[in-house]
Order: sequence, then structure tokens, then C-alpha cells
Amino acid sequence: MTVAPHKKAKALKPNSRRPAKELCSECGLCDTYYIHYVKEACAFLNQQIAELEQQAHGRSRDLNKEDDWYFGVHQDMMAAQKKQPIEGAQWTGIVSTIACEMLNRGLVEGVVCVQNTEQDRFQPMPVIARTPEEVLAAKVNKPTLSPNLSVLEEIERSQMKRLLVIGVGCQIQALRAVEKELGLEKLYVLGTPCVDNVTRAGLQKFLETTSKSPDTVVHYEFMQDFRVHFKHEDGSLEKVPFFGLKTNQLKDVFAPSCMSCFDYVNSLADLVVGYMGAPFGWQWIVVRNQTGQEMLDLVQDQLNTQPVTSEGNRKQAVQNSIPAYDQGVTLPMWAAKLMGVVIEKIGPKGLEYARFSIDSHFTRNYLYLKRNHPQKLDDHVPEYAQKIVEQYKLPQ
Ligand code: FAD
Ligand code: SF4
Repeated sequence: MTVAPHKKAKALKPNSRRPAKELCSECGLCDTYYIHYVKEACAFLNQQIAELEQQAHGRSRDLNKEDDWYFGVHQDMMAAQKKQPIEGAQWTGIVSTIACEMLNRGLVEGVVCVQNTEQDRFQPMPVIARTPEEVLAAKVNKPTLSPNLSVLEEIERSQMKRLLVIGVGCQIQALRAVEKELGLEKLYVLGTPCVDNVTRAGLQKFLETTSKSPDTVVHYEFMQDFRVHFKHEDGSLEKVPFFGLKTNQLKDVFAPSCMSCFDYVNSLADLVVGYMGAPFGWQWIVVRNQTGQEMLDLVQDQLNTQPVTSEGNRKQAVQNSIPAYDQGVTLPMWAAKLMGVVIEKIGPKGLEYARFSIDSHFTRNYLYLKRNHPQKLDDHVPEYAQKIVEQYKLPQ
């Protein structure tokens, strides 16, 4: 029997080695003997989204189609919400519900997901859940870098053959790159969009700078109404307008990996569940391939759905936000609130809001990379992202 090269290379597993250095997103691959593949697999060392799209979906983005630049390869998109939301989920719990159904119906033997530690609700603890209860214990975002792939060796040890992995873009890129080495009969990938992630220390700074009661926050989201919504332990909701964030203090809070990421929409997952392309209160579903459709079919009868819509024009708002962010402008709270109200009334909605968010982050990240890692610019920015950035005038 031939031994896979990564197993022979077990000695290569130093816990602290992270070849992507400061750009490492702590995806977990380097905690395993799959570190053997890191140079090809790491999303920050080898940007290969188009090749991996071809492998996962049978085609890569069509660069003549603007929807493909923005939302990636897809065969369907919709807004959805659970008829009976899961209490305490990030949104209505579509992600957890799909994972539970897949276990209940025996489609998979395990689900890679992220619970939290006993001491800290925001400290991620990746696990392979084998029961719906264990999946439900992973509901709600841990808004921090999470080493999801650190459980990869356990998959091989457990001899599982059918697996669902839930994860964000950088984790899924590395996973797709080593997929063939995992010895699985079937891998399902359920992704969420992801942006502006932070280390646990960075999260603390964000909460302390932005919320009135950082210690009681149980959940937060950057919402489509241009406000951050913090939910507190007592059920109360605190809303802070984006334009009132203390940008000058928060500029270095986001992880360098996230400041140089162009895979906001999780291009390589079979099915993506987020919110930003949907009306307020609804989740946004992107079906990338037939496997994704099969996963969605499992829960279709538990969902209300409606077609995606698009309203407004984001371009001027994005152009204005580029120098404002660059110079760390913070508005006084009264002006920030007023601006939030105005932009909510006349600003982009539905898919146009998603484009607004993608444009704002890609232009910011392009500038970050150009200034801090200019040698990476050509290879690291995918062609679709270059097309998006080229629509705007950037400062030097
Ligand atoms: P739930 O049923 O509550 O399940 C949440 C799932 O997320 C769990 O299975 C858990 O394993 C997984 N998870 C939790 N934390 C992490 C983590 N750190 N890394 C990987 N997986 C994790 N959507 C957008 O449209 N725009 C965004 O900008 C956006 N940013 C996000 C940033 C982060 C860090 C994360 C984790 C998600 C983000 N999402 C974003 C997705 C969105 O917030 C919801 O997670 C998604 O809509 C699913 O909601 P739900 O109620 O179905 O999830
Ligand atoms: Fe390793 Fe993942 Fe960090 Fe890349 S992002 S260096 S693969 S842990």
C-alpha cells in the first residue's frame, strides 16, 4: 500500500509554523500534517480560485457576466427564512437546519462546525459534530478567526467517508485544495460569506470601542440598514450606525488576512447562506452547483422564499467611502445617525447592497495590499476582483 505523502511528512508538523506569516487567517490546515500541502493550498500563498471553481463546480466565473464577478458561479439565488427560526441562531438558522437534516437522513456521518469554549462564548472551538445536538451547539457566529481545518486529521482517523464542512472562504479554499487527499467518498460544503474577521483580542477591542456594554453582547451583525446591531444578554438591541464607527481606532483591528481577502462570497462552497443580498430580516442563498441544490432541497419545506431583488445605485456611495475610510474619518454621532436614516431610505437594497459591500471591501483591500504587500498584487487579486476595483478611482 502506498502511503500518502503528507503522512510520511508527519515530522513537518510544527505547531507554530505559518508560512503565510502575518497574512495567515489561522484556518487550521497548518495544525495538521496536511501542512505538507500548504504552499499550494493556502489561500494567502496561492490564489487559485478559478482553478478550484472548475474543480468544484465544473466551470469558473464567466468574466463577461457582472453577476459572476460579484456572486461567483451560481445556478440559483433567492431570499429565504425559516418558517420557525432556531432560537439563538445567527439569523433564522438555515445553516444549522441543513446540517441537522443531513445527519438525520444519514447523508453524512459528521459535520465540521464551530462551537465555543465553556469559558468564552466568542472563542471558537472547531469540532466534528456527529449528532444534531452537537450541530445546534455550534449555532451563531463566533466572529473571530477559527481554525476549522485543525480537525482534518481526526476525519482520517475516524474513517468517515461522508462529511459536511461548514466554513468561511479561506478555510474552504484550503479544504478544496486538499479535498482529494482526505479519502472521502463525498464531501459537502456549506459556506457563509465572510468579511472583516478579527482575532479574539481584536474582537474585544471592537466591542469595547463600539458597544455601550461590551461584556453582555451575545451576537452582532453589520446589517443591511447600515447599522451594527448588537444583541445583549437581556434580549435588548443596540444599533450603531456604520458611519459613526471610530474608524481611526478600528483601522488595525481587522486581521491582515481579511484586509487582503477577495473571496467575500465563498466562491468554492456548494451552497452559500448569508444575508447581504436579501431584504432586511431575510437570509440570502446562493446555490453554486447540483450538490448545493440537493442540500437546499432537504429543507425547502421548512422555508419561506422569495426571489432576490435589486434597488438603487451604489457607485457614488462606494466612491465617497474610499477616501473617508482611508483618512479614518469619524462623523459625530448625530450626523452618523442622520446619514444612516437617509441612506437607508434612498440607498442600495437587495443585490445592490451586496454589491455595495463587496465594492467597498475590495477597493479597501486592494489599497491595503498595494501599500503593504505590493509584490503580491498581481497574483493575489483574482481577475474578477480587478474588474470590480477598476470601476473606482483610488487614492495613491
Ligand atoms: P446558524 O444556524 O446560526 O449557524 C452558524 C454556523 O456558522 C455554525 O454552523 C458555525 O459552525 C459557523 N461558524 C460560526 N463561527 C464561524 C467562524 N468564525 N468560522 C467559520 N464558521 C463559523 N453574511 C453576509 O451576508 N455578509 C457578511 O459580511 C457576513 N460576514 C460573516 C462573518 C463571519 C465571521 C461569519 C462566521 C459569517 C458571516 N456571514 C456573513 C454569514 C451570516 O452572518 C450567517 O452566519 C449566515 O447567514 C448563517 O446564518 P444562520 O442563522 O443560518 O446560521
Ligand atoms: Fe496555514 Fe491556513 Fe495560515 Fe495559510 S491561512 S498559513 S494554510 S493556517
